[in-house]
Amino acid sequence: MSTLQITNLPPSAASPSVSPSSFPLFLGATLGLPTKFRPSFALTTVYNNRKIDSLKNPRFSRISCSAGGTDTQVVVKEKSVSVILLAGGKGKRMGASMPKQYLPLLGQPIALYSFYTFSKMPEVKEIIVVCDPSYQDIFEDARDNIHIDLKFALPGKERQDSVYSGLEEIDLDSELVCIHDSARPLVLTSDVTKVLKDGKRIGAAVLGVPAKATIKEANSESFVVKTLDRKTLWEMQTPQVIEPDLLKKGFEYVNREGLEVTDDVSIVEHLKHPVYITEGSYTNIKVTTPDDLLLAERILNPED
Ligand code: C5P
Repeated sequence: MSTLQITNLPPSAASPSVSPSSFPLFLGATLGLPTKFRPSFALTTVYNNRKIDSLKNPRFSRISCSAGGTDTQVVVKEKSVSVILLAGGKGKRMGASMPKQYLPLLGQPIALYSFYTFSKMPEVKEIIVVCDPSYQDIFEDARDNIHIDLKFALPGKERQDSVYSGLEEIDLDSELVCIHDSARPLVLTSDVTKVLKDGKRIGAAVLGVPAKATIKEANSESFVVKTLDRKTLWEMQTPQVIEPDLLKKGFEYVNREGLEVTDDVSIVEHLKHPVYITEGSYTNIKVTTPDDLLLAERILNPED
């Protein structure tokens, strides 16, 4: 059973536009499931000690990756992982007065959810928070509640620059770097455990979910060039887990060649090193717009 442990959660804020009874349907609609499949495709997950329906889709769950699935024999040693928690973005699409990762979600800043999730995992040695110094106190104030090392790094212009900045601060003995967007507060401990094991086994792994939308490639005049085969498409999430030396080599390569990268594992892809996709959960949403905030509240607190 998947569990997200969250401390000190206040009661949910009321939501005027969605009634509690419509939760599964509402969530199904928001996540794009066909109407006839919504109720029957829900599986049970426990969030904050409450049973709720999550939306892993059995039709897609059968898809497996070429490397053969998470190997339970792989052991990720205690205190061998450095987490780089990215919180340096401005999050303008939210239209709020502060970056989205600091907005309250049921009374707690969004960035603190995954911060606490990682801090409770025995594999994690340290968290390097990449954030503007003016927001460091949010994490400093939480320091007493955690028993791992907390460090800070300055954000860069682009996401990748922030990753690089965090990478410079990691413990030299770390065996894995686990890069996570702080704007994804609902990542499950069980999914992080899986992707850490796959990262250890392969050298690079990323959480992802099978694409549900039909995706077409278009030319510059907006005419369809081709329809991509949905069965082979995955939507990438975070964490992305990489061996530190591999990530450093990848950065050297893309900087030397002047290549553009959109996510962390694509740096490794440029080195022609295999990257494994660990199947995660559809509930690991990135909070980008006000709708996402409402959805995250509903996932955490479906009964309100
Ligand atoms: O903007 P986007 O949603 O893609 O950002 C993903 C994550 O990367 C967010 O958690 C954001 O705070 C972080 N970020 C960063 N430094 C940047 C840009 C984004 O730490 N320069």
